[in-house]
Amino acid sequence: MVKIFSSSRASKFTESVIREMTRICLKHQGVNLAQGFPDFPAPSEIKEAAIEAIQGDFNQYAVTWGTPNLRQAIAEKFAWYNGVTIDPDREITVCCGSTEAMISSLMAIVNPGEEVIVFEPFYENYGPDTILCDATPRFITLHEPDWHFDEKELAKAFNNKTKAIIINTPNNPTGKVFSHEELQFIADLCLKWGAIAVTDEIYEHILYDGAKHISIASLPGMRDRTITINSISKTYSLTGWRVGWAIASSPLTASIRKVHDFLTVGAPHPLQEAAATALRMDRSYYQTLAREYQERRDFLARVLEEAGFKIYLPNGAYYIMTDVGHFGFSDDMAFARYLVEKAGVATVPGSSFYSHSSLGATKVRFCFPKKRETLEQAAERLREFKR
Ligand code: GLN
Repeated sequence: MVKIFSSSRASKFTESVIREMTRICLKHQGVNLAQGFPDFPAPSEIKEAAIEAIQGDFNQYAVTWGTPNLRQAIAEKFAWYNGVTIDPDREITVCCGSTEAMISSLMAIVNPGEEVIVFEPFYENYGPDTILCDATPRFITLHEPDWHFDEKELAKAFNNKTKAIIINTPNNPTGKVFSHEELQFIADLCLKWGAIAVTDEIYEHILYDGAKHISIASLPGMRDRTITINSISKTYSLTGWRVGWAIASSPLTASIRKVHDFLTVGAPHPLQEAAATALRMDRSYYQTLAREYQERRDFLARVLEEAGFKIYLPNGAYYIMTDVGHFGFSDDMAFARYLVEKAGVATVPGSSFYSHSSLGATKVRFCFPKKRETLEQAAERLREFKR
């Protein structure tokens, strides 16, 4: 008897295109503007805290849902920056990155057949996330050029089967920052239909042109029906440490903690201790971070426009979505392949952010959490590409 070893669940999604582009980029020795991670150093006081934690023998399992020190630091920061008071003992689960926080949260709340609303284009992971918890995704279009959603379309998508809506603000890949009005509209629908807002806010400090970050958990009535996901990856340039967390009311947290425990047991103990140091850094750190990212955004935006790309200028996060339809390639994959192989610049093909590849066929995404030299190198190659 011949058995097919792959499960039907695993065969419903493909490998991550974002991570694949990094491997292709390494092969061609390209400039990696695909997978979003910094190539500049992380703050030295956080690195020193990690070394101290290892030397101080924080080397065995931490408490499954996170060291008390880190949970306390998360609660303090959530109060001052996001405006919500939480109980660090009962309302936080520290996970292996926000990726695990998202999948653990969805697995903890969604039953097979229940629906999860996802704004499209979406960060690639949310597709497989919904499949892995047997949910039915319902996609709501973010309309170009400002990536607004149609209120009527969203209201129609909610029904008795709607368990959750995934929000990502500031948004990857579009750079959209959801407004207070938009979040209030979503909150009203969550309250009306008894749905949970699962909100990925990892770019909360990367904001441009005076944009303000608002957490949906801070809106009236939403504190106990929101799961807020975050991590140290983007704010402190520590994507490889894999320390993230989910904040939710105590009944939701109890469920998330069980899933988290059996998936991963816990995040690295010494890095959690150092993460507590990161979250307690002087508040001026966040202003500097945003200012430096604004310079990188402005630089890459100008380079891309000069090279003939149509760009969507982001209000937050560290990506620029572009339209490349007029370059005459058959699709986004062909364009991205050409750009990395011939020009030596890796990007993410737009289709990886859409439920149907045709929707992203004219788009590619650039990321810019990079040193000035790296961006200048990319600029040179893109100028060559234009010729
Ligand atoms: N968020 C990053 C991106 O969109 C990648 C994160 C990851 O690969 N885990 O490129």
